[in-house]
Amino acid sequence: MEGTQRKGKKRTVQKLKYIILGGGMVAGYAAKELASRGLTSGELAIVSADTAFPYERPPLSKGFLSGKDNETSILINGPEWYREHGIEVRLNTVIEYIDPNKTLLRSSSGEEFECQHLLLATGARARKLDCPGNDLGNVYYLRSLKDSETIRSRSASTKEAVIIGGGFIGMEVASVLAQKSIQTTLVIREDRVWSRVFTPLMSAFFEQYYTARGVRIVKQARVASLEGKGTVQAVLLGDGKKISCDCVVVGVGAVPVTEPVEKAGLTVDNGIVVNEYLEASRAGVYAAGDVANYPDTIFGKRRRVEHWDNAVSQGQHWTRVVLGERQPFVHVPYFFSDVFDLSYELWGDPAGANEIVVRGDSNTSSFSVWWLKNNRMAAAFVMNRPDEERQVAPEWIKSSQTVSRERLSDKKRTILEAISG
Ligand code: NAP
Repeated sequence: MEGTQRKGKKRTVQKLKYIILGGGMVAGYAAKELASRGLTSGELAIVSADTAFPYERPPLSKGFLSGKDNETSILINGPEWYREHGIEVRLNTVIEYIDPNKTLLRSSSGEEFECQHLLLATGARARKLDCPGNDLGNVYYLRSLKDSETIRSRSASTKEAVIIGGGFIGMEVASVLAQKSIQTTLVIREDRVWSRVFTPLMSAFFEQYYTARGVRIVKQARVASLEGKGTVQAVLLGDGKKISCDCVVVGVGAVPVTEPVEKAGLTVDNGIVVNEYLEASRAGVYAAGDVANYPDTIFGKRRRVEHWDNAVSQGQHWTRVVLGERQPFVHVPYFFSDVFDLSYELWGDPAGANEIVVRGDSNTSSFSVWWLKNNRMAAAFVMNRPDEERQVAPEWIKSSQTVSRERLSDKKRTILEAISG
């Protein structure tokens, strides 16, 4: 890192080739990719408001929360790795001002950083529950390592927990807390779990699985208020029902972190708008991960994806772009989840599909769901199925493979025999 003095000012500007703003998974994987391609010491800095080196986020609502993982095992690279590669990781550093024309950043303490290539990877923050009592003690959100540590240590003395929200945090945290023998109630506003992505059959499977493992699911519920003196003691619902608890975990979505990018005049619309090369609206500025609103060339629409795979893939892709391999980001959306003893994966985008085929037996935990749009593969959910189903899913979605609905649903045929013609 090179230091210069500005004329008439005492301020030191640290000059780098690359800066990644945001110390999450994008930063960890982009740094790894840059290093593997011959990064020179002093070329890259990661500027992060977090207190920890870049870590994997999936374990926060799974293995770390349950106690299987620890602070060290979830790090993408250890602190010594960054030292060995001459990468500066500036933690606890909040950037207040960005000048996109000079790709210059200024921190709240007045430090300035300038670079040739700026990657904005500021991520997303937890959406707050808007109701009376939301500031009571023992009401938690889960986003950072610190949040997960807090919930984990609190769970040791929790007897009754209410989880608000039927998305990823809700489903994963409910499964972890129930396995700690905590009486767990999941409160959702929808009429079935994971309704945004799952079919009714899939929601029914998971609801039954959770209920059989002691999780109570309260559906079509509106949280009117959280009640308690100092700490939460009950969740009051819109219909007057009260659920007693000594801990609440809220998982009602995330919002992209776009300030101070907005103030810098970059185009922001449900995240930072980038093109297929992950370039934002100023030369030398890019965005990746939860905050990036990118054109998905496979599905022909813009999307912002808040999952591990997207952060990793876009971080790596940015590296290739800045190293001169100017290829568009073409990637099948993907996520996975682990709940209780189940692991599943989902590729693609079920929106707009007009046929759904189930393979396997949805009364067991071994089945897959295939979404077709005009006979072409659009999305696939796979849980405990033969490996070839996992292998073909992303390939076929990427190539919009035509499949025969009849063959796909024929249990006697393998997945490979489902291709028409
Ligand atoms: P999420 O998956 O988007 O789910 C949010 C849930 O809360 C939805 O069911 C939503 O219902 C509901 N909701 C929204 N506003 C509400 C309100 N005011 N009151 C009650 N319910 C409300 O978000 P999340 O579970 O909070 O997770 C946060 C982020 O972390 C997500 O982006 C998620 O992708 C990511 N994450 C991913 C994984 C994984 O990939 N396995 C694991 C953990 C977290 P509607 O559908 O009706 O809006």
